Amino acid sequence: MKLSEHLFVCEPGILRLTLPLPSGPKHVHCYFLRGEDGWTLVDTGLGLMETPWPEILGELDAPVVRIFITHMHPDHVGGAEAAAAATGAPVLQGRLDYAQCERVWGSTDWPEHVAAWFTRQGTTPAIADELIESGHVFADFVRFAWNPTLVEPGDEVDGWRVLWVPGHADGHLALERDGVLVAGDSLLAPITPAIGLYPESRPDPLGDYLGSLQRTIDLAPAIAYSGHGDTVTDPVGRATELIAHHAERLLVTAAAIGTEPRTAYDVSFPLFGDDLRPAARRFAVAETLSHLERLVRDGAAERHELQPNGDVASVSYTAAQ
Ligand SMILES: [Zn+2]
Repeated sequence: MKLSEHLFVCEPGILRLTLPLPSGPKHVHCYFLRGEDGWTLVDTGLGLMETPWPEILGELDAPVVRIFITHMHPDHVGGAEAAAAATGAPVLQGRLDYAQCERVWGSTDWPEHVAAWFTRQGTTPAIADELIESGHVFADFVRFAWNPTLVEPGDEVDGWRVLWVPGHADGHLALERDGVLVAGDSLLAPITPAIGLYPESRPDPLGDYLGSLQRTIDLAPAIAYSGHGDTVTDPVGRATELIAHHAERLLVTAAAIGTEPRTAYDVSFPLFGDDLRPAARRFAVAETLSHLERLVRDGAAERHELQPNGDVASVSYTAAQ
């Protein structure tokens, strides 16, 4: 039910604010959770999109008393500084998630670092280098809040339990209370959350994600409010579908490697097709890598790192012998 120009009532005490994005799913959902002392805002949209916070806050019946960040991707954390300034509320972010947020968005050398890493995964220099330019442009859109209040899995935030649901991001957190899951991007429908491997991150994001999905099934929430797309009315069913999806993608990945070493870039072509723009190709390579590394841990693939002069020059994969 639409409450006002910007707000949609999910259920009593939970409001949804949908903000536009220039790319990808074209929108992100933020949530307001009502507590005794006011509202908790979950996620904040992008930094440079003009979010009319005063107007939005004027539609609420009480102040925003805290801001909770599910994960450090631009569409969730990028508006944190502006939201904090507009509300005067403290920002809460996971300890691991904030460390990665500061490394990626708070440093000046990250695009170069990631471009070199993509090159080692076989990505052509042109596609890797395009990242340097777009990465620096994009960093301007990400205005996260420095020195937030750090939270840990198991903490309580205004009666909501903080859950660690890694996979889409290493430090991804969700909130759960009375069978309601505020899931961020850990559970989406109808789109499938991207599960990519990136440098300086946990080594097996798909393994992490499959564990998160299983824990969601065990928790059996009645409903999940997600960062994009539809409200998930059958979280257990959706988590089960996503596990099956990745099982199938693992089979396709395993079929794309053999006795000849192939890089993740090579393998991304049979998995994601030939016709991708540079940014989409990099997502494809990262997603291919998360599946290859899962196969390595399953004993179905082997990783080969060529190391002239002690530096890793390239990483490739074969089927396990
Ligand atoms: Zn997102």
